[in-house]
Amino acid sequence: MTLTAPQIGIDTYQKLANNVLNGQSITREEALLILDAPDEHVPAILAAGFEIRKHHFGRTVQLNFLMSAKSGLCPEDCHYCSQSKVSEAPVPKYNMLKRDDLMKAAEQAAEQGAKTYCLVISARGPNEREMAAVEAIVPEIKEKYGLDICACLGLLNKEQADRLKACGVNRVNHNLNTSETHYAEVCTTHTYADRVQTLKHVRAAGMEMCSGGIIGMDERSEDVVSMAFDLRELGVQSIPLNFLESIDGTPFEGKAALTPNKCLKALAMFRFVAPDRELRISGGREVHLRSLQPLGLYVANSMFIGDYLTTKGQAPDADRQMIEDLGFEVTISTD
Ligand code: SF4
Repeated sequence: MTLTAPQIGIDTYQKLANNVLNGQSITREEALLILDAPDEHVPAILAAGFEIRKHHFGRTVQLNFLMSAKSGLCPEDCHYCSQSKVSEAPVPKYNMLKRDDLMKAAEQAAEQGAKTYCLVISARGPNEREMAAVEAIVPEIKEKYGLDICACLGLLNKEQADRLKACGVNRVNHNLNTSETHYAEVCTTHTYADRVQTLKHVRAAGMEMCSGGIIGMDERSEDVVSMAFDLRELGVQSIPLNFLESIDGTPFEGKAALTPNKCLKALAMFRFVAPDRELRISGGREVHLRSLQPLGLYVANSMFIGDYLTTKGQAPDADRQMIEDLGFEVTISTD
């Protein structure tokens, strides 16, 4: 039975969770009800979402470590991004880091208990030199530190996706960021369809797809729901959810009317829509969830440890303490 707004009581969320646990998908209307629920429903939403999370992931938390292997100098115009050609934000600008720097960061990732090392470059897509550098470093990192590798290199063609698979990349990150309808408000130098095509190349090459979005870019609730359903239908294995940190000097300077409760409802909605996918609380966690950060882990099962690409993260010790205080445990393998 599809639920409508007047039928919503706080027991509704448990009923929806039971449906999900019985293998039924929630509808777009039900996803919207979660996203637009009154704030006083948040405890009930999280309690119901936690049942789904527990069923698929228990109390485990997966940690991911981000490495900005090339920064700034990007020809694209993603309006949220401080590394884009239209951004005036002061960000470090450097070309692909050398082997020793990338290995040092891998050592740090392993020491901090990360399962996945996310190798990120700022680019429309990788050039030949960058592809060759990734192909050289990935086997070395995997052999020495046993980390899974997620590559975030921009748009990929079929040949590039096949080469990444061949060198041992486990997963590729390429976020849809928002809905198809809203996409042109966020970026004009490439399209939503371009991003979907990259994900399809990744899927066809046999790698896992990591793709999520950013909340707080003036999108409607319908856009967030639409993105969640698109990601589920594409079959992405991992969904990073970011909360816009509007950076001075970018076109989205001054944006982002987010509250901690709004972020929690968004995370929960994704858990209901994609119950068995890794759901990662990503950029903006500290700024927008603030003191409610731990509550996010009742529905999400993954987070970044350390800093983000161009913004600071909470200290790793504080993150580990938060996980321990929740009675959760870090997992280094979900396989
Ligand atoms: S393609 Fe990536 S690095 Fe370039 S502007 Fe967009 S988000 Fe930033």
